[in-house]
Amino acid sequence: MTTLRVRRFEPGVHGQRWDSFEVPLAERTTVLDALFYVLRRHDRSLAFRCACRAAMCGSCGMVVNGSERLACRTPLAEVAVSGVVRVEPLRNLPVVKDLVVDIDPFFDKYAAVEPFVMLPPGIHAPAEIPADDPTRQQIGEGLDCITCGACYSACPMVAVDPDYLGPAQLLRAFNVLEDVREREDAWQVRAEVFGRHGVWRCHAISECTRVCPKDLDPAQAIRRLKRRALTG
Ligand code: SF4
Repeated sequence: MTTLRVRRFEPGVHGQRWDSFEVPLAERTTVLDALFYVLRRHDRSLAFRCACRAAMCGSCGMVVNGSERLACRTPLAEVAVSGVVRVEPLRNLPVVKDLVVDIDPFFDKYAAVEPFVMLPPGIHAPAEIPADDPTRQQIGEGLDCITCGACYSACPMVAVDPDYLGPAQLLRAFNVLEDVREREDAWQVRAEVFGRHGVWRCHAISECTRVCPKDLDPAQAIRRLKRRALTG
């Protein structure tokens, strides 16, 4: 057995507190399994999100022992080394209840970077982009972002500037701006990306890249956007 310490919060009912639960520790148990165990055996009021259990949907992002993780992909044994596992909601987003955060501010900023390829007028046919195309490789794995919000939660600049667009949002902006199909004035249309709360707010602390559960590199995408802004 190990102890799961869960940060609890229910607006209008009680303030923030920590609850401890004893959970079984088996070789293949994940943090998400442990949360379900708590739900079934200890406290049916515990709130958390999950969907696919395969690191694809991005809905079980939370902070485990102080670091952003996907609960479905975090083995309990790996984080239970001291006999206690602390679980908290993602940071930099309002808490709805317990481990559930309001993800709307994250997606509002995602929408603000216009996260789609802007085609030149009159182009309707699908583009063919060979897998070995150099620009396709530049975008590369950035397309695998599952919008879990881990990078947004870990980013110290989001914490100090709530208007900062955020790492996942700028990674997405990089992906579409590097797309060869984009129309020429797309850079101007996405002026917000290069504004006061865009790439220049990033101080290259790179927590986003450290915590990304898909091993993506938003920090590098932001560096490339800055270089492109300077060199044109
Ligand atoms: Fe999650 Fe990584 Fe996408 Fe950020 S860049 S939202 S950490 S998958």
